[in-house]
Amino acid sequence: MSARARTFDVIVVGGGPAGSVMAWSLARQGADVLLLERARFPREKVCGDFVEPRGLRILERMGCLPALEETAPLPITHVAMFLRSECAYRGAIPFYGRRAGLPPHGYIIPRDVLDYSMLRCAAQAGATVRQESRVVSVACGQTGVQAQVQRGERLSTHRAQLVVGADGVHSVVARSAELLEDDPRYSAVSQRAYAEGLSQEDGEAAFFFDRELFPGYGWIFPMAGGRANLGVGILSETRDRHSISVPRLFSQFVDKARETDPRYSDLRLSGPPIGGIVKTYGGAGRNVFDRGLLIGDAGCFVDPMTGEGITPAMESALLGSAVLLEALEQGKFGAAFLSSYEESFRHYFGPAFGYVDLCASLMRNEHFGDAWLDAVARGCKLAEKDTDFGRIAGATFGGMELDPIGIAAQIWTKAVGVMAAEGAHSLFGLLSGDLGRLSSSVGQMADWHLSWWRSALSDPAWHASWASDVANKWLRLVVAAPGLAEDPRARGPLTN
Ligand SMILES: Cc1cc2nc3c(=O)[nH]c(=O)nc-3n(C[C@H](O)[C@H](O)[C@H](O)COP(=O)(O)OP(=O)(O)OC[C@H]3O[C@@H](n4cnc5c(N)ncnc54)[C@H](O)[C@@H]3O)c2cc1C
Repeated sequence: MSARARTFDVIVVGGGPAGSVMAWSLARQGADVLLLERARFPREKVCGDFVEPRGLRILERMGCLPALEETAPLPITHVAMFLRSECAYRGAIPFYGRRAGLPPHGYIIPRDVLDYSMLRCAAQAGATVRQESRVVSVACGQTGVQAQVQRGERLSTHRAQLVVGADGVHSVVARSAELLEDDPRYSAVSQRAYAEGLSQEDGEAAFFFDRELFPGYGWIFPMAGGRANLGVGILSETRDRHSISVPRLFSQFVDKARETDPRYSDLRLSGPPIGGIVKTYGGAGRNVFDRGLLIGDAGCFVDPMTGEGITPAMESALLGSAVLLEALEQGKFGAAFLSSYEESFRHYFGPAFGYVDLCASLMRNEHFGDAWLDAVARGCKLAEKDTDFGRIAGATFGGMELDPIGIAAQIWTKAVGVMAAEGAHSLFGLLSGDLGRLSSSVGQMADWHLSWWRSALSDPAWHASWASDVANKWLRLVVAAPGLAEDPRARGPLTN
């Protein structure tokens, strides 16, 4: 029977990592799946291309990893953190290689290669894949789902019991279900390009934190053959409030990076930079509606600190597929039944993303930019000497296993230790009249206070709404904290 005449169990809209994993998971468990993708693969997707160990674990399970490894991606095992152009940390990624079952490295895999391989995997598992098929609207009713699809000049209709929105940040499915989130506090705008001329091939990913990129960062990810993926990203809210030009940020970043470290001095862009958007988990709504759900970027499954979304897209697909299989089995397609998806993704992502979303929300206030940059620089220096501190506290930025209570304890123990040591030194300075002995930590405390007052006085309304947002998130985390056991993301969502 032709795809148009048939009623599928599930229509998956979008063939990126989220859609391919969803179609693969449903099809291998016996569901009749149609995946509709508007592009013809292989196609370019603006991305940093960094697939971290938890994502590689899923690719391995799907069976695509060996073919991807034949393309000889460089294993990413090391990191360099540049704070205001000074290298504050250079060494092994402290939280990689610590957990059995997770590879001790990530890979930079260009998305034309990665996504094509995953789409083929979905087709091999039994999903019907239609490329160059753009979904223009989705209607969900009592009798089922109807997707209007444009192929060239032709419009056609496809039918199913259920629909999945895996169609990225501008999701047509989310818009049709009136669930499209678009909050500048939870989205970042970026520019990314490829380059040649990297002088070292040692699997070291570099991150650049600077005043003009705050809150956001620049990156240079090494690839085989002296190539690199590089770019900048900044919070949309900050871009809008200060009319920042992201293309200008990108070119300033490239110029600065060339001067920062000899390994970047000969970098030459292979083509013009391209812009992209991420929507982070802080903005995630319920992601469930009658006869369907949203996964990946369509549902805002992106790490609020790093902007990584490939792995969460795959994870959300696996969580969602379990709920859809249950719905098909029981013949229950309403939002009330499907809402167990929201429960499962909140349980799965909540502990880690709740914590990093609080950190990202704190950093939305640019008045604290210098204080944050100083604090992160000090943390990086400490992590170079103390691997345990790097492993636990450093996990805030891309960690495999987030332990918010452990992180808070680590940071406070170190801070109190420094204050105690420097406090005595400062007290002696005060008593002896030697102000040169006033400790740096006293100065840093004063910086945080001054920043608070600068923020409150420069835009009181914005400051009040920011402070209440942070306080709410803090409270939610404190209430949830006693119940936090292991970070579920460390074990992964695969159950069979
Ligand atoms: C500059 C930048 C850098 C990033 N760097 C990283 C990184 O290094 N590591 C990381 O993990 N994440 C990174 N991300 C995030 C990552 O790219 C996304 O989170 C990830 O692609 C989400 O996958 P997805 O399948 O949900 O959506 P997508 O990858 O966007 O896939 C959606 C698919 O749906 C198709 N589609 C869209 N509309 C329709 C329609 N109407 N009909 C049919 N098909 C449709 C699209 O063609 C596309 O193939 C970055 C993002 C940006 C913008």
